[in-house]
Amino acid sequence: MSYELRCRECGKSWGNQPLSICEDCFSPLEVAYDYEWLRGPVTRERISARAPNMWRYAELLPLPQNFRLTVPAGFTPLLPAPRLAQSLGAKTLLLKNDAVCLPSLSFKDRVVAVALAQARNFGFDTVACSSTGNLANAVAAQAARNGLKAWIFIPADLEPAKILGTQVFGAKVVRIAGSYDQVNRLCSQIADEHPWGFVNVNLRPYYAEGSKTVGFEIAEQLGWRLPDNVVVPMAGGSLITKIKKAFDELVLLGLVEPKPVKIFGAQATGCSPISTAVKAGNAEIEPQKPATLARSLAIGNPADGHYAIKTIRSSGGWAEDISDPEVVESIQLLAQTEGVFTETAGGVTVGCARKLYQQGRIRPDETTVLCITGNGLKTTDIFAGKYEAEEPIRPKMADFAARLERTLEPQRPIQESVEA
Ligand SMILES: *Cc1c(COP(=O)(O)O)cnc(C)c1O
Ligand SMILES: [Zn+2]
Repeated sequence: MSYELRCRECGKSWGNQPLSICEDCFSPLEVAYDYEWLRGPVTRERISARAPNMWRYAELLPLPQNFRLTVPAGFTPLLPAPRLAQSLGAKTLLLKNDAVCLPSLSFKDRVVAVALAQARNFGFDTVACSSTGNLANAVAAQAARNGLKAWIFIPADLEPAKILGTQVFGAKVVRIAGSYDQVNRLCSQIADEHPWGFVNVNLRPYYAEGSKTVGFEIAEQLGWRLPDNVVVPMAGGSLITKIKKAFDELVLLGLVEPKPVKIFGAQATGCSPISTAVKAGNAEIEPQKPATLARSLAIGNPADGHYAIKTIRSSGGWAEDISDPEVVESIQLLAQTEGVFTETAGGVTVGCARKLYQQGRIRPDETTVLCITGNGLKTTDIFAGKYEAEEPIRPKMADFAARLERTLEPQRPIQESVEA
């Protein structure tokens, strides 16, 4: 095996087992690889010749020897976004569009795919998770496909589409009257009692590695080059650290030229423990009580907050946050300029990017990638009352002529409606 669990702080090796915390110093475990050994088999040519899904980077993921592909997740489009760029005062802007990640329409499909490969390897017949919504959908969908049972723990008041999009796969859904952070604490206790594979508790080190594939794909899709900047939405803070790890690994293996990449984090102001710490120059987060419609990012006590801050700071990046009305406007802006319908997390990314351009922290001529991590059809409830359908007309030309008449006032440019 070319990988094992290692403590992020004391460096002790823990082999491969369902364990996420070092039993000596209580720090998180991380998957470490034998990069010397990987230098041989991992080449651009071999990767590029493989099927367009995240398993093309198999050697850089902690996959068991008995791994067999059940879910071809990942390899989502990297889209040029010229019209959004114009609206933000940018030039070279791209979208990493995980709104269309398969099978469950968020980047969480990547992490779950790796976690479930290890869950099967460790012999679990039941998988579980605490979730702000998208993880629930991904675990439920992929458990069904892998013939595993699933227990899903969520805050009671999640978006209806995310709850239904979990139940439909036959998963057991437990709604909890409390915040995500309370749900997560309960799950740690359940994991001690029940022999289940909790993807983000005892399988967390393996799970988290799946996020690296976002970084690998960005580099490969740029023609094996690193961008100047990436803007990443943050909940637990794992994705942002793993995109950085992916870029570092590609450099280490000689697959891309070394280049500084600024890493920018994005949060909603109503739940912004990480961006608040970055702006204040603190190395640790102060937990918050979430109050935002960006439910997928509503983690008040982010597990990887400390490492997210470190990643952002050491890269020369920054973190920003935006209000809930700005999240909604940003979703509309992205949809109207680029035809991409994202959920609230993607709105957070776009709105924060807008701020970062205004502040001059991102320069227009630099190559910047925005991570669009989830699909807008899952959070349509945020538009309640915003798109009232008009009264139907009769199937008559006269009715349509009247309708056209009513509509033919000059359209306001998109930018105005956003800046209002
Ligand atoms: C979970 C999630 C994130 C944040 O991921 P972390 O690794 O927890 O920071 C971003 N966007 C969406 C849509 C998510 O579901
Ligand atoms: Zn340790």
